[in-house]
Amino acid sequence: MLNADADADADADAAAHDRFDVPKTQRKRSKEEVILLMLCALSIPSILPFGVYRLMQHNWLSAALDLTLVAGMLCVMLFVRRSGRVKFASVVVTIFYSVGMLATVYIKGVSLVYWVYPTMIAAFFMLRPIVALVINGVSLIVLIIVLAQQMIPILNLLTIVVTIMLINLFSYIFSHRTGIQHKELNREAERDFLTGVGNRRALARNLATYAKSNGTHIESSLLLLDLDHFKTVNDRFGHAAGDAVLVHLCELIRSRTRTSDQIFRYGGEEFIVIAKGASLRSASGLAEDLRALVASTEMLEGCLITISIGVASMLEDEAPSAWLQRADRMLYLAKQSGRNAVRVAVDAAAPC
Ligand code: GH3
Ligand code: MG
Ligand code: MG
Repeated sequence: MLNADADADADADAAAHDRFDVPKTQRKRSKEEVILLMLCALSIPSILPFGVYRLMQHNWLSAALDLTLVAGMLCVMLFVRRSGRVKFASVVVTIFYSVGMLATVYIKGVSLVYWVYPTMIAAFFMLRPIVALVINGVSLIVLIIVLAQQMIPILNLLTIVVTIMLINLFSYIFSHRTGIQHKELNREAERDFLTGVGNRRALARNLATYAKSNGTHIESSLLLLDLDHFKTVNDRFGHAAGDAVLVHLCELIRSRTRTSDQIFRYGGEEFIVIAKGASLRSASGLAEDLRALVASTEMLEGCLITISIGVASMLEDEAPSAWLQRADRMLYLAKQSGRNAVRVAVDAAAPC
């Protein structure tokens, strides 16, 4: 019962391919889309034989209902493959299935009530648990009305209602728990184990959202930080001391950034701060503040630790990779200037 946000998963997959720009031509199928397509595809061989059998039996009404369901599933599959609108299609499929299931019980009687169970469980595979529960709840009320008209014994009716309620309860709990675990796993997968800041995967996903929001430009700035001569620190004090410096550096960065600023570990001793909504001027101020703070903090006894920083503001319609590249060029200049320095990209897209 995978019902996490389809867009987030697609972004994470892009991150796995280590791309910072959203591909414009090819759309990657999310897990939710694949599940929806599979459920639709599976329902066709499950229902079609009954439709054909009823057709041969000259049971026109039931056959028409079965074949309508099959045709509906084919249409949904085509729609999803073309448009990728999984959430909308999932609601439509669930309602469509539920109406078909209720109509089947209405026409053929209580003997076909077994179809209610897989139909209701399928809703939890496609929708958020609460949405599935609401649709199934409405279906159950209609089913009770339909069965009450068919004068089935009260004990049978009660058994059907209670068992349907139980499978909904169990499915809801299972689906809800799976959703929470899925979110936790995603969070862990995007966290740097040592420092606790976002990792490169998280960076790729966040930068992809900037690529998507191009056209609705909000001024944002990126700081690329690199510890100076960190290899020497490791060589002199050992790897464990180096690790402690990395953790301490992140604490210092956190202490000077806003909660809306995002911190990522870009590589070994390189970090990125994305200051959303920050102008180049305020980002430069932040960079200078961080540089001075690190230089004045005694992170290792008897060793001056410094950082160099490249700063760039995102230009309108600029690809995230180009934005990052401009900050990287500034970092290079900061290193060239002797380290423990900040350089700011004040120009438009830098020439290669
Ligand atoms: P520069 O000023 O030019 O950036 O020099 P540098 O020595 O910092 O850069 P260089 O790229 O030569 O070396 C980076 C070092 O960072 C090498 C590597 O051992 C260290 N490093 C990378 N990841 C980790 C880590 O997780 N823990 C520790 N302790 N060191 C790391
Ligand atoms: Mg370095
Ligand atoms: Mg480096």
